[in-house]
Amino acid sequence: MDDTTTISGAATSNDKQDYPLVFLHGITRRFTQGDATVDVLRGAELAIWPGQSVALIAPSGSGKSTLLHIAGLLEHPDAGEVYIDGEPTTNLNDLQRTRIRRNDIGFVYQFHHLLSEFSAEENVMLPQMVRGFSRTAASTRAVELLSYLGLKERLTHRPAELSGGEQQRVAIARAVANAPRILLADEPTGNLDVHTAEHVFGALRQLVRASGLAAVIATHNLDIAAQMDRRVTIRDGAVVELE
Ligand code: ADP
Ligand code: MG
Repeated sequence: MDDTTTISGAATSNDKQDYPLVFLHGITRRFTQGDATVDVLRGAELAIWPGQSVALIAPSGSGKSTLLHIAGLLEHPDAGEVYIDGEPTTNLNDLQRTRIRRNDIGFVYQFHHLLSEFSAEENVMLPQMVRGFSRTAASTRAVELLSYLGLKERLTHRPAELSGGEQQRVAIARAVANAPRILLADEPTGNLDVHTAEHVFGALRQLVRASGLAAVIATHNLDIAAQMDRRVTIRDGAVVELE
């Protein structure tokens, strides 16, 4: 990985901002399946500040994905408010939510979800072109990001021609292609071996520091979590600070 590479167009760090980039307030979410109801989140509170990386460590089924989907405006909570950059989002329409997701939020899934018929470079270009950037500009940034993540020699490879760790690094590059201010990653290294996970995570952490992103990363890997700014868990439907 090249430490000296600068990332043009990346979100700039703003330490002076006095409100969180993401603020989950009183978040409640209940699922009903047949006769059973599960209160997954019961008044969860979480504030994430610019440039801050937060590890979300909690057992399977405790609500990590639910929390991340709500923070990423992919799902609505039953009650509570999601503030993005200080603004409440409950009353936004679908188009406005989509715009925030596209411009301000990057999401990395456990499985990469790359488009199989496109190259690594094209996968990172596409979200930029959807946003209206020219092919040339999108390509320049894609090459820059992929090189930063150590994939300079893999630009023209399709997902099937990449290793699991390489695929996840392309997925990370795609998630930050539009210079979001918030990165949400749902067990991004969950399917990778320990060594590869370490490598992918190193790339992710470096990117967060370099770009002033706020990041929440769900993980079971305690070594990885130890390297983040904060660690939280979900206990009885609430977000609880660890340590
Ligand atoms: P985690 O990501 O920590 O494993 P999830 O957020 O995926 O946890 O799920 C938390 C709980 O909510 C689990 O018991 C799960 O079965 C339930 N759940 C999640 N999504 C749904 C859904 N769409 N319908 C019904 N139950 C759900
Ligand atoms: Mg999950």
